Amino acid sequence: MFEKVLIANRGEVALRIHRACREMGIKTVAVHSEADATAMHVRLADEAVCIGPSRSSESYLNKSAIISAALITGADAIHPGFGFLSEDADFAEMVEEHGIAFIGPKSEQMRLMGDKITARKVAEEAGLPVTPGSPQLESIEQAIEWANRIGYPVIIKATAGGGGKGMKIAFNDEEIKEAYTLARAEAKASFTSDVVYMEKYLQNPRHIEIQVLADSYGNVVHLGERDCSIQRNNQKVIEETPSPALNLQQRTEIGNIVQQAITKIGYTSAGTLEFLFEDGRFYFMEMNTRLQVEHPITEAVTGIDIVREQIRIASGATLGYTQDDITFNGHAIECRINAENPVTFAPCPGKITEWHAPGGLGVRVDSEIYSGYSIPPYYDSMIAKLIVSGKTRNACLMRLRRALEEFVIDGLQTTIPLHQSLISQAEFIDGQYNIHWLEKFLEKQNG
Ligand code: ADP
Repeated sequence: MFEKVLIANRGEVALRIHRACREMGIKTVAVHSEADATAMHVRLADEAVCIGPSRSSESYLNKSAIISAALITGADAIHPGFGFLSEDADFAEMVEEHGIAFIGPKSEQMRLMGDKITARKVAEEAGLPVTPGSPQLESIEQAIEWANRIGYPVIIKATAGGGGKGMKIAFNDEEIKEAYTLARAEAKASFTSDVVYMEKYLQNPRHIEIQVLADSYGNVVHLGERDCSIQRNNQKVIEETPSPALNLQQRTEIGNIVQQAITKIGYTSAGTLEFLFEDGRFYFMEMNTRLQVEHPITEAVTGIDIVREQIRIASGATLGYTQDDITFNGHAIECRINAENPVTFAPCPGKITEWHAPGGLGVRVDSEIYSGYSIPPYYDSMIAKLIVSGKTRNACLMRLRRALEEFVIDGLQTTIPLHQSLISQAEFIDGQYNIHWLEKFLEKQNG
């Protein structure tokens, strides 16, 4: 087992990884930017190294500074968390070349899955149901031809895409021209590669993803699904498991298909396969080869510590259990709490004057915040995750309502009032929502 792990991230996920290491008797090294010198992950880690100025391009994305920090402190592994370098295959390869373990899949698996066109091909060959789509599109004429073959509406996507960027929808030949040009330009600006392709645009799907764990010896389990359909700008806001839209047969079927596909692909570490789900059918969208923000809801219903499993797998341990050993208990929901104006979503960095996190049975708060902490303006606006579990969905909702009521964050605005409003809507309570529900709700609310 590793003796010292360097955590190449910040915020709540850095803390989350630190906690898993601590419980495994592993020492931790925090890296931080100048703006994060007093951050909680820095205060709790055994050692800390400043890796650069506040802007993430000069610190948390600075590969050589991070690898130098690992070499200087003698860390034998690096955990990338999520965001930043977590899906950067070049970084994983650099880490491997320096004789340090990368806590995640092999760099070649990341490369395969990081490109959406290749990932779709790999997924299809492994037996996963895939959205009808095109190969790489080279011209507007070709885009029109494919759109007519697939049938409108279609969505043009960047093969290097992420974070909901570089996607444009078209309903007819006229709209394709603009969608194709815009998607390519946006892809070029965000990901340097302007390679785009096309998928059938599903009009009212849910976003359902399956968590997997796979060791280096061919043992693979799935940990059930997460329904992440409550989204704004293609970003998840609330996630829950199990999905209110699946019955036991659908859940078992997709779980088995995924488990077999991952075995065939030979993937190792934790990973998530994202699907759209419409009219009882699943369509593979992409695989995330990293820890996900919403992993705690799966932990709540399975009792499995996913970060601990990532570390064990990277150190060469076997899973030590099979699918039959995995049991699913009760229901869990996560609310992502952002330092944002709850109506305009404008970021609200600043000083937290008072902080009181809710507690009690079935309540978990993952956050880096403490009273008097100043949220720097340079990074993502998510400041806390509230994860609530209960025996039934209804018990979970009642508990979530109570926990949100108890939460005190003063000194700046947060999205807590938005969550309170969302979970009291009849459609949410009934589980009747798809990926467009939140945006329609916000439109109605804001007139
Ligand atoms: P990213 O890598 O940028 O997160 P994804 O491929 O995961 O992009 O898609 C993000 C979101 O965009 C999905 O959760 C869904 O809301 C929407 N989306 C993507 N592909 C389609 C599609 N074929 N039909 C309908 N919606 C889609």
